[in-house]
Amino acid sequence: MKAIRVHETGGPEQMKVDQIDIPPPGPKQALVKINTSGVNFIDIYFRTGLYKADAPFTLGMEASGVVEAVGEGVSEVAVGDRVAYAMTRGSYAEYAVVPSATLVKVPDGVALEAAASVMLQGMTAHYLSHSTFPLENHHTALVHAAAGGTGALLVQMAKMRGARVIATAGSAGKAARAKAVGADEVILYAEQDFEAEARRLTGGAGVDVVYDSVGAATWEKSLGSLKPRGMIVSFGNASGAVPAVQPLVLSTKGSLFLTRPTLASYCATREELLWRAGDVLRWLAAGTLQTKVHRVYGFEEAAQAHMDLAGRVSAGKLLLKP
Ligand code: NDP
Repeated sequence: MKAIRVHETGGPEQMKVDQIDIPPPGPKQALVKINTSGVNFIDIYFRTGLYKADAPFTLGMEASGVVEAVGEGVSEVAVGDRVAYAMTRGSYAEYAVVPSATLVKVPDGVALEAAASVMLQGMTAHYLSHSTFPLENHHTALVHAAAGGTGALLVQMAKMRGARVIATAGSAGKAARAKAVGADEVILYAEQDFEAEARRLTGGAGVDVVYDSVGAATWEKSLGSLKPRGMIVSFGNASGAVPAVQPLVLSTKGSLFLTRPTLASYCATREELLWRAGDVLRWLAAGTLQTKVHRVYGFEEAAQAHMDLAGRVSAGKLLLKP
């Protein structure tokens, strides 16, 4: 089978289309014939070496497909089931072996391509808005990169929960996208001081929570946008990792809370996974949740997909097809 592998971490040119054997599923594993793989920022972190893996490794943390074979002791899925998953590495391939407990069945009304576009980013938006800082209708949230894959889903879920959403976006086109998915206000953070704007838009009070996936470039002003006892949810590093933090800063800015969450900890049990994936796929089928595919790339175009995501070209979901 074909698999996109990294032998040495570095730039997009390090992604090689290799021919390797189809792996057999072991106990409690299923072999999935991949229909569509999602492209996510985490793939860039693994490719560049920010997140560690032993080389050579196959990229990709999200996919949909059909179960081709199962190992011993698999009860969650059967051969022929349409399934989707996130957070097992190796989805940029024609086949992937996945722990069966991480697979969810894709409902009849949902296309496999659509399922692949919401598993990782949709469940992330779900835990951020429902669990890390459970939004309520009296809250104001600042959502960075709101036209992005995760950002646009987070805006929609924040609105479902009744919160006011102040969004940031890198261009007028992206601002329009953030508005279209429900943001109440959008700040063009490349041109405007988003901290001053967030303060102005809240009458000086500051926001209850900042969902910050941009990282190094926004960190300081994100802290400055919060009201006393607000929470900064630092969940990504699109502009680079946040530098070391002095806890005293949280005190001087008003007894702030800081968390650095990851999806794996918020899908800790099968029950939790089925709750989040179930909500996301049901909302998708009902049309309550919108996704926008930026582009579907072929395997030979995987490097281009990474350049488009890292280069802030994309707005929406990037997909990869074997
Ligand atoms: P996006 O589609 O959001 O793309 C990233 C966006 O970040 C860009 O489009 C851009 O939007 C913005 N951005 C700001 N500064 C930069 C920069 N210097 N370089 C590149 N992009 C920049 O990607 P994803 O939805 O895949 O991921 C978004 C973030 O969420 C990532 O940081 C990712 O690691 C994180 N994440 C974290 C998870 C977790 O559980 N912790 C799970 C899933 C995602 P604009 O032009 O509008 O500024």
